[in-house]
Amino acid sequence: MTTTPPRVLTIAGSDSGGGAGLQADLRTFFSCGVHGMTAVTAVTVQNSLGVSDVSVIPADVVAAQIVAVADDIGVLAAKTGMLATAEIISAVAGACDKVQIGREGTTPFVVDPVAASMHGDQLLRDDALDALRTELFPRATLVTPNLDEVRLLTGIDVRDRAEAREAARALHALGPRWALVKGGHMHEDPECVDLLYDGETFLELPAGRIDTRHTHGGGDTMASAITSALARGADVPTAVRFGKAFVTRAVQHAYPLGGGVGPVSSFW
Ligand code: PLP
Repeated sequence: MTTTPPRVLTIAGSDSGGGAGLQADLRTFFSCGVHGMTAVTAVTVQNSLGVSDVSVIPADVVAAQIVAVADDIGVLAAKTGMLATAEIISAVAGACDKVQIGREGTTPFVVDPVAASMHGDQLLRDDALDALRTELFPRATLVTPNLDEVRLLTGIDVRDRAEAREAARALHALGPRWALVKGGHMHEDPECVDLLYDGETFLELPAGRIDTRHTHGGGDTMASAITSALARGADVPTAVRFGKAFVTRAVQHAYPLGGGVGPVSSFW
């Protein structure tokens, strides 16, 4: 018998096209050598052209999945992806409290505040933004918004690195231990700089910009790689550096799929 690998949980939606969502999370977990578990929040009807329908899982079923795996298998780190509704966010917060995911001294908890797909398909109802800010952010070890999500959450439209610092401060004020502002969507910047902030120190993480339109699932992949590193005992800056390296390579190896936008690659 071999030993049990670190166990991680994603609380996320399904992408039928297999590019993003919990499918991307599980692929990344596999590549990182950790055992992935899922609390499914929603089923999207999706292909490379976009999302045509969403079916939301009842909030109590989402909470029950979290408690079931935590009680028996154990969770060394967890992340969120698409949470769809305010009811699901409240149920996730309640379940995480029950099994000690998130907050200081408990299981590391990465909150990726997924709001919309790159095609502009809505993945979070409007009234759920407030629940995300007030119920999940204070529990998070790390939040990982892209610039569109930063704008929705803080009202700050980041166009340069000074505004990224202002946004990181605003995000951190909502309660997470660390905030990561991902600069990938700042297209005028020749580099792709992410900014990590713990309330005291800014850490800039630069990477070259890669010329591809196939970036579907990039955010999910990065958050999952970070979560995997946290489950292995890495501190947050180390885990974020690992996640950045993982997603940079994943974007370099992104592949076309269908008639639209292809996914980043987790092949290692
Ligand atoms: N579909 C689901 C279920 C997702 O969770 C996400 C992102 O988290 C997406 C689609 C959108 O991914 P992208 O913006 O990379 O296209």
